[in-house]
Amino acid sequence: MKVAALSKRTGRRGFVKSMAGAGAAILAGPSPFGATEQGQTPRSTAPRRATGLPARGEYLVRNGHILTMDAGLGDIPGGDVHVRNGDIIAVGKNLKAPGAQVLDASHMIVLPGLIDTHWHMWTTYLRSMAADSAEQGYFPLTTKYGQAMRPIDMYRSTRLAAAEAIFSGITTANDECHNVRSHDYAIEDIRALAETGVRARWSYGAYRGIPPTEPRNLADFEALHKDWSAHSNGGLISLGYIWTGIGSTTSPVPPERFEMSRKEIETARRFGVPISVHLSARENTPPGWVEALANEGFLGKDLLLIHALSTSAAEMKLVAAAGTSISVSPGSELRIGYGLTKAGDFDAAGINVCVSVDTTPLTGNAHLFGILKLLRNAENAQAFDEFKFTARRALEFGTIHGARALGIDHLTGSLTPGKRADLILVRTDGLNMGVFTDPAHLLVEATEPSDVDTVIVDGRILKRAGKMTALDPAEIIAGASATLEEVTKRLA
Ligand SMILES: [Zn+2]
Repeated sequence: MKVAALSKRTGRRGFVKSMAGAGAAILAGPSPFGATEQGQTPRSTAPRRATGLPARGEYLVRNGHILTMDAGLGDIPGGDVHVRNGDIIAVGKNLKAPGAQVLDASHMIVLPGLIDTHWHMWTTYLRSMAADSAEQGYFPLTTKYGQAMRPIDMYRSTRLAAAEAIFSGITTANDECHNVRSHDYAIEDIRALAETGVRARWSYGAYRGIPPTEPRNLADFEALHKDWSAHSNGGLISLGYIWTGIGSTTSPVPPERFEMSRKEIETARRFGVPISVHLSARENTPPGWVEALANEGFLGKDLLLIHALSTSAAEMKLVAAAGTSISVSPGSELRIGYGLTKAGDFDAAGINVCVSVDTTPLTGNAHLFGILKLLRNAENAQAFDEFKFTARRALEFGTIHGARALGIDHLTGSLTPGKRADLILVRTDGLNMGVFTDPAHLLVEATEPSDVDTVIVDGRILKRAGKMTALDPAEIIAGASATLEEVTKRLA
């Protein structure tokens, strides 16, 4: 019988014994990148916490088909998960947890919540609006509308994204906020995340329409970092930095392009804040870029490369050696014409590959199971091989690899005692899911967001029996609709 309990693993994971203070517990464990964690750690002032979210309770998820995504624990058919005060206490069969509320998981697959690693959540009110001509494509669309937004519009749009994340089984998102037009835009965007209860990295970016030579507002970034405990929702939201990148379309990269970059990267690293950078289409990221980043000392475990479709085989070795992760977003990459994913090659080179939504003006929705399906099918198509890429590997990309990429695999990404309770229950008795066969195949090939029955983030039940428990979808959609209407009027 496979039973793993928190007490057996506290030593290995280095978790604090007392779990009374959830805020303390979620911040316990080793520093993800070996740097200081000032950017993530609440300091002396008490963190401001979201109100209106369900309390963290004690639950026994009973008799589910459990995919722990923990290599040591494997799958547990007919298994249980014991959750208390936001912690995974035990995973196994026939667990005893007197007093715990039982969540019946018969006919359900239980797995860690999905982890998105790159999502411009503020663009969500422009869902499916990227249109069919050069003037109406994704970049002109988001630049035009982004420039006419007010801080409240960031809040309304990102709140819709975070609610959709929870609805779709995504328990952690990396909100790449690249429309920080002033400090207030940042504050409102972060507030939206905090109110929904999702686990997140909030990544500080530039703004739509920024002149290419304008330096980034590092003073504003520093101010947010200093005051981060006021925004972190008790530690659920950490701070990240979106590096502009070297912004050149030539190869080799002119040396002056590195000056601004060095300042940005050094600032983020001085604060111990993890960094992400877009290396987008092949045509504007020529081969040789990743090598240039390596030569400058920019690669590292704290750096997340996004798309990176022009990376050569030699460069992949450099990325793997540096411990740098790559986030692939086949939903948007295929749609915008960046080309077929190289996820399989990255994986074979030993790189930690994770997945992302990117932006719903292009992807339509945040259906991360569907994005894993696209990834897997694109890999098999390129290889002319039915067996090239497994559903199980896709699920690893969507869970534990995402946690590693964000430096939070000591907290989430697998159902491991001692980690925080981010888990989802997926119904298998719907018409699109029956008959129950192979659970990993069903998740990647058949599951829709509406099949996600229950979503628990940090021990809070945020979706139950297919319904949001704390958020009002109609009110959230009405807010985002009002934003579209108002921004459109402003542009007229
Ligand atoms: Zn992006």
